[in-house]
Amino acid sequence: MAYVSFTDVRKEYRMGDTVTAAADGVSFEIEKGEFVVMVGPSGAGKTTILNLLGGMDSCTSGKILVDGRDVSACTERQLTEYRRHDVGFVFQFYNLIQNLTALENVELASQICRSPLNPRKVLERVGLGERMDNFPAQLSGGEQQRVAIARALAKNPKLLLCDEPTGALDYVTGRQVLQLLQHTCRDNGRTVVVITHNQAFAAMADRVIHIHSGKVQKVTRNPAPLPAE
Ligand code: ADP
Ligand code: ADP
Repeated sequence: MAYVSFTDVRKEYRMGDTVTAAADGVSFEIEKGEFVVMVGPSGAGKTTILNLLGGMDSCTSGKILVDGRDVSACTERQLTEYRRHDVGFVFQFYNLIQNLTALENVELASQICRSPLNPRKVLERVGLGERMDNFPAQLSGGEQQRVAIARALAKNPKLLLCDEPTGALDYVTGRQVLQLLQHTCRDNGRTVVVITHNQAFAAMADRVIHIHSGKVQKVTRNPAPLPAE
C-alpha cells in the first residue's frame, strides 16, 4: 500500500452563496521516502491539498490515507495529535519567533513532541552550527529558512510538508534549501512534499504532481532526480 493516498478528494470553500471547489476529485499516491514536488499556477489548489494532507483542514468528501491512517476520518482531537507528532511544516515566511534565538526556536518545537531529535544536532545538520545563538533578524533569509527546517525536523516527523519554502528567496538560495530538503529525505527515509512555483526545482524530485484548477493534471516520475551537489 502506498504511504500517502488521496482518493477522489474534494474540498469546497463557501463564501456566501458561492462555492469554490479548491480540490475537485484529487487522486494521487506517494511512496514512503519519496521527495515530491507539487507545481501549478497560483490558485490551482496546491496549498489546499497540502493542508488536507497535514491535517490542518478537513476534506468535503473523498479519502486521505497516510501510513495506513485514515486522516479524512479523524476527529479534531486525532488531527491535533497527528499534526503535532507525525507532520513537520515549513512555510514561505519562516514563521520564527523573533525574540528567541535559532536554538530556542528549535528547542521550543522539540518540547511538545514525543521523540524529538537533539536541537543542536539538527541545527548542525542544516549548516547552522555556528549560528545557533543568533536571533532571526541577524540571519539571512536562507538561514532563517534553515532554522525553520531544523525546527520542523526536530519533531522527527515521518512526513515533512513545505509550502513555497523558496518563495521569499533568490534562486541560488532557494536551490540550496531544496537540496537540503532532498537530503533530509535521503537521510532518514522521510517523505517530503514541497510546493514550488519554480518548475526548475521539479527536476530534483522523485515525483512531480502537477495541479491545475483543483485537479491533478498529471503526475510524472524522475527515475534519476538531479542530485543535490
Ligand atoms: P494555490 O496554493 O495553488 O495557490 P490554494 O489552495 O491556495 O491554491 O487555493 C485554491 C482555491 O481555493 C483558490 O481559488 C482560492 O481562492 C480558494 N481558497 C483557498 N482557501 C480558501 C478559503 N479559506 N476560503 C475560501 N476560498 C479559499
Ligand atoms: P542575504 O543577502 O543572503 O539575505 P544578508 O546580506 O542578509 O544575506 O546576510 C549575509 C550574512 O550576514 C549572513 O550570513 C547573515 O547571517 C549575516 N548577517 C546579516 N545581518 C546580520 C546581523 N544583524 N547580525 C549578524 N549577522 C548578520
